[in-house]
Amino acid sequence: MTAASGQRLTQLDELVSLCARRGYIFPSSEIYGGINGFWDYGPLGVELKNKVKARWWQTVVRERADVVGMDSAIISHPRTWDASGHTEHFSDPMVDCRACKKRFRADQLDDIGPCSAREGTSEHDLTPPRNFNLMLETRIGASEDAAATAYLRPETCAPIFTGFKRVREAARQKIPFGIAQIGKAFRNEINPRNFTFRSREFEQAEMEFFCHSDEREKWFDHWCNERMRFHQELGFAPDSLRTRPHGRDELAHYCKNAVDIEFRFPFGWQEFEGIHDRGDWDLSRHSEYSGKDLSVSGEDPKQRFVPTVIETSVGIDRLCLALLANAYAVEELDGGESRTVLHLHASVAPIQVAVLPLSKKLADPAHALESQLCRSFSVFYDDAGNIGRRYRRQDEAGTPFCVTYDFDSVDDQQVTVRERDTMKQERIAIDGITDYLEEQLECTA
Ligand code: ATP
Repeated sequence: MTAASGQRLTQLDELVSLCARRGYIFPSSEIYGGINGFWDYGPLGVELKNKVKARWWQTVVRERADVVGMDSAIISHPRTWDASGHTEHFSDPMVDCRACKKRFRADQLDDIGPCSAREGTSEHDLTPPRNFNLMLETRIGASEDAAATAYLRPETCAPIFTGFKRVREAARQKIPFGIAQIGKAFRNEINPRNFTFRSREFEQAEMEFFCHSDEREKWFDHWCNERMRFHQELGFAPDSLRTRPHGRDELAHYCKNAVDIEFRFPFGWQEFEGIHDRGDWDLSRHSEYSGKDLSVSGEDPKQRFVPTVIETSVGIDRLCLALLANAYAVEELDGGESRTVLHLHASVAPIQVAVLPLSKKLADPAHALESQLCRSFSVFYDDAGNIGRRYRRQDEAGTPFCVTYDFDSVDDQQVTVRERDTMKQERIAIDGITDYLEEQLECTA
């Protein structure tokens, strides 16, 4: 049985409940009732996220001679956000309901539901829209005056621009080249929703590629293709991904071109990565505000120019959500049974191999097998419950292979390997099991 024969995810609730049940993702501070827009990743979730980030870093940084990495502080000098325009412009229009006191984005009023506080009508009593800055404020040091106000970064790219000169010189890079980083970003979203899709704390993986403006189109196309290939190789169904170029009216004033990569979420087509031609806006503004020259010299050392930036910006949480939604299926089995399974790509599956002894009496040799396998794979050991139930648990976790050690294994030194998607089982010699699994995982990765 394959994903194609299963039933696609149509309701986000089913995935939300699986994620909590299986320890992928659950509300932060859950025992206090949760905190809106903040999520915690459990044992499986953190593995998924780490693998997605490692794959991004491998493709975008390690496999390229022209991209280097950095890891900046979350809090920058407040002038950074004046230069980037965030202090002035990073806002959404919001409205309040005078009756129930709820706050909504003025451009997203279609599905806000009824007002619970008015008599005789369920319509909200909305205020006129006003702008609400999305940056999360904090205070630094003991001082109470305004000079101590700082912001948690609303995106990870700004420190790449402020660190541009230092990183370029230290890494002895010439234009064209890129700087990448993965890290937390914070936005005081008016209306966090759709599970982790719109959160107040999230992770971004961003890469700023600095080039001459003559080559902007070439690099923009290059990065659109590279990023789309990255996602296709993660096993997204072909009809679940698309690119959407921005119309002229959608572009920020400094942005010359932009394309969203969108996934068909259960709540519709939505962006999870953006590729933007930001022109020389960022470096020019930071030059102006800091008084530091961020221009570079071209072939002719006398001809200096401010590089154009092509940005790729993916939300790690949104990408994980898309991967989970893409992988989720409920499948009918022979005999009227059904199973819930995550057909996750093997390279990002939190557990690659589960070791399942048929009986607790087989713990010693099964643990020996576990120790052998965990040197090469992420392994989980499970001896609780009947074998069918254990397979179902691993299906829900998205584990590509289960290895069962049974009473025959003691004598014939073979184990049963069960593959998640086809549910086919094969007897494999223990001394060849690592090679076998490596080969199988390679084929699917
Ligand atoms: P949106 O229009 O959905 O608010 P955006 O266009 O403001 O997104 P960018 O500023 O381009 O998003 O950020 C790049 C990426 O960061 C997005 O494609 C998304 O994956 C992620 N991202 C942005 N805001 C959030 C959020 N509130 N929660 C989770 N991920 C986010």
